[in-house]
Amino acid sequence: MSEDKKSVLQEYKLESDNELRFEVETKGEKVYLTLKNGLAEIFGTELVKAKTYEFTAGAKVAVFTWQGCTIEVKGKTDVIYIAKETPMVVYSNCHAALEIMRSVNEKNNKRGPIAMVVGPTDVGKSTLCRILLNYAVRMGRRPIFVDLDVGQGNISIPGTVGALVIERPASIDEGFSQEAPLVYNFGHKSPGTNSKLYGMITNQLATTLKERLEINKRTKHSGVIINTCGWIKNEGYKQILQAGEAFEVDVIMVLDQERLYNELVRDMPSYVNVVFLQKSGGVVEISKSTRSENRDQRIREYFYGTPKNQLYPHPFDLKWSEIKLFKIGAPPLPDSCLPHGMKPGDNLTKLVPLTPNVGILHHILAVSFAEKPDDEVILSHVIGFICVTNVDTDRQTISVLSPQPKPLPNHILVLSELQFMDSH
Ligand code: ADP
Repeated sequence: MSEDKKSVLQEYKLESDNELRFEVETKGEKVYLTLKNGLAEIFGTELVKAKTYEFTAGAKVAVFTWQGCTIEVKGKTDVIYIAKETPMVVYSNCHAALEIMRSVNEKNNKRGPIAMVVGPTDVGKSTLCRILLNYAVRMGRRPIFVDLDVGQGNISIPGTVGALVIERPASIDEGFSQEAPLVYNFGHKSPGTNSKLYGMITNQLATTLKERLEINKRTKHSGVIINTCGWIKNEGYKQILQAGEAFEVDVIMVLDQERLYNELVRDMPSYVNVVFLQKSGGVVEISKSTRSENRDQRIREYFYGTPKNQLYPHPFDLKWSEIKLFKIGAPPLPDSCLPHGMKPGDNLTKLVPLTPNVGILHHILAVSFAEKPDDEVILSHVIGFICVTNVDTDRQTISVLSPQPKPLPNHILVLSELQFMDSH
């Protein structure tokens, strides 16, 4: 098919269990998709017949149909094809198995299944989580989505781990609605930068989550789906084991890597059901630069929203005296200089007061929930994030961009490694 032909209106007839896959790469390009006949879904969200959906650069999409359908696509796609082989039947069986566990546990008033999705990067972990959550919510469940992937930031912004109650299917273009997520700030885009802190924070999230599961019966019976990052070797593998233990997982779905599957079967307690799943041939590998652009986009959306749902953040100044700024992690001390009771590595989770300086320019600051500026700050969840847009050392002020107008809901702020250049 010539490039020009790809840009005109095309109709695709899909047979049952087929998937139309396409990518939009060109910046500024828009692709419009309409379901003409039949039934179809995108990563578990049903398409509304005759409604037109818009996709922009970066979109990597699969329209799947259980029954067969006709789809119209308008605009220039970079890749577009119909796939007959997909793992959707297997993924749907996973959903069915989780649903059986939910029904049984509901009768006994026990918590629903806690399932964790693991595997290397770019195997469709986030996508599988989205499909399973969508299927659960379409059955009237109210599951919790936990995201431990600090590199992507599906909940809140990158550099965080969090949990979100899913009350309705993900919107095709904007994903799951972000109402009152529980968010912990890690402050780095890779868990390996400070794996001790990462372990502490994921443990804390697990503890809070277990308490919250007990609050609402419907959520309790619906269970949890946990997404993880693609770090699966050495320390990364230990993190998976630790998360499995902390969240008391019942099921682990391993995408694509048999070695990881075998290791988990060997190392997890026998009551944990470890299953191996093929990755979809449609999953697209994401380059380092795209990954970084995606992170930037997530932060931009946090402050400015999306074209459909615009937000208007507030710029204002804060006096240095008005805030208490911290960073987590002090430089290591030689073993011979360690104060009594301190172990090597303890410095990594030390709360260090910080005087604002030009080094924090463009950095994200987490607004903590902590009441006092003590060690609890590290394990406190966050109210939200602000971004430093200017540092004035003469006036001793910083300018920030904030989702909420002044005053800040708390003056205890924690520095993140993540940066955002506000180009608005
Ligand atoms: P991981 O979480 O393992 O890193 P993702 O779920 O984020 O992987 O998938 C990587 C990319 O592949 C995403 O952009 C997603 O939209 C795309 N993708 C996933 N499944 C399919 C599919 N079946 N067809 C086309 N693109 C897909």
